[in-house]
Amino acid sequence: MSNQDIKKARRHLTQNEGLIFEGSSPGKVGVEMPPLDVPALDPARALGAQLVRDEIAGFPEVSEMEVVRHFTRLSTWNYGVDLGAYLLGSCTMKYNPKINEVVARLEGIGNAHPYQPENLSQGCLRIMKHLADALLEIVGMDAITLQPAAGAHGEMTGLLLIRAYLESKGNARRKVLVPDSAHGTNPASAYQVGYQTQNLPSNARGTVDLAVLDRMMNEDVAALMLTNPNTLGVFDDQIVEIAEIVHSRGGLIYMDGANLNALLGVSRPGDFGIDVLHLNLHKTFSTPHGGGGPGAGPVAVKKHLEPFLPIPRVRENADGTLGLDFDQPKTVGRVRAFYGNYGMLVRALAFILANGSDGLRQVTDDAVLNSRYVRKGLEDYYELPYPAPTLHECVFSDKRQLKNGVRTGDIAKRLIDYGFHPYTVSFPLIVPGALMIEPTESESKQELDLLIDALQCIAREAETEPETVLNAPHTTRVGRMDEVQAARKPILRWKP
Ligand SMILES: *Cc1c(COP(=O)(O)O)cnc(C)c1O
Repeated sequence: MSNQDIKKARRHLTQNEGLIFEGSSPGKVGVEMPPLDVPALDPARALGAQLVRDEIAGFPEVSEMEVVRHFTRLSTWNYGVDLGAYLLGSCTMKYNPKINEVVARLEGIGNAHPYQPENLSQGCLRIMKHLADALLEIVGMDAITLQPAAGAHGEMTGLLLIRAYLESKGNARRKVLVPDSAHGTNPASAYQVGYQTQNLPSNARGTVDLAVLDRMMNEDVAALMLTNPNTLGVFDDQIVEIAEIVHSRGGLIYMDGANLNALLGVSRPGDFGIDVLHLNLHKTFSTPHGGGGPGAGPVAVKKHLEPFLPIPRVRENADGTLGLDFDQPKTVGRVRAFYGNYGMLVRALAFILANGSDGLRQVTDDAVLNSRYVRKGLEDYYELPYPAPTLHECVFSDKRQLKNGVRTGDIAKRLIDYGFHPYTVSFPLIVPGALMIEPTESESKQELDLLIDALQCIAREAETEPETVLNAPHTTRVGRMDEVQAARKPILRWKP
């Protein structure tokens, strides 16, 4: 049987739309209703004409089984962390324990209403307080808002706080320094808040160059936005000196703490000079986030920034009950409706409590160990442009494969054939042709060995049969897509 024949024979597994439309025939139904035993009503009179929907032309009429197969088959065309390792560097695609989903759906939590009176919301407020206290302990800061709905939203909020603080001291400044290794959202957030951004070039280790910082840090710089460990996975061990330079000239340090599973229980940003940081609960503290949300990006600050935090803030009353405090004269206001994405807060607290402090420390130890194990396994096969020790992720480049015309994007596509979700492609920007791998703490040694083996095989293929890599993926339902169109003009639903 030729490959073509096999493809034809498996057509029913791969051509989903065809099946549900070809399977349609007039009058076929999924559900048999019992005969009507009450007087028939005119729907337009009973409901109001505006609520009665017209028949949808061309809507497929199929049986229950056909519908079930349609959606079940669709679900198998996707790749998720429930299927295997998901290496997307900087995104922390760790396993999300199912118990968190159960907890977030408990009746009193899942059905709570944001307009419920405070005396009926004590449990929900207690969850917020408990989470806030735990996060503050983890990062060593003084106060926190749980409101922002994503990491980038947290960045924006944090910069609004910095701006409000500096303005309150009559010290408006116009610039924010962003290292060239920063996540792309950092300069975007600074710009959004009205700052000009200045690119801070890294040194050969990939970290902040103190001499350059010393030169650029002047009276017009409001803040340095730092990711630590940075997007190369390298911890900037000169952070105390960096903070000294910035603070001595009246600036503040913002830390992008999206990837905190390199620090949990080991090191606290509040102890190394950070003034403001955001956390990505949907990354470090486990929430499914492959589809783009919802997320939660709490912002933690030192004492001097607390008066500016968004409202409402959870307040502990003298009698031990909790309430919401809207009376904060210096607040930057609200950044999100109600209390943020509340379900994410519940999941994060469940994750923290299930792990305990020892468990969180173990998360970091395992995330770093896994990343280092992968790095070691691939060092002989892929170029490592920044050889400094790395924490939770490692970044290779396609320099060696490029000699045969194979680029990081091709290697990523080929990796799909081996059953893995690709790593982050072409990021960070300071590494041309980057392969950014974050295995997370979730993966077992067996899975990591399979992954290393796959990437070693692909490196060999790039030498001996580059065409195989260049034309990948071969085993998926669709081959290479126009990725720009797929992102800009996604076709998400059937239309008549
Ligand atoms: C993911 C990430 C962000 C952005 O977080 P979102 O929730 O996607 O907005 C910012 N910085 C770093 C380092 C990240 O990894």
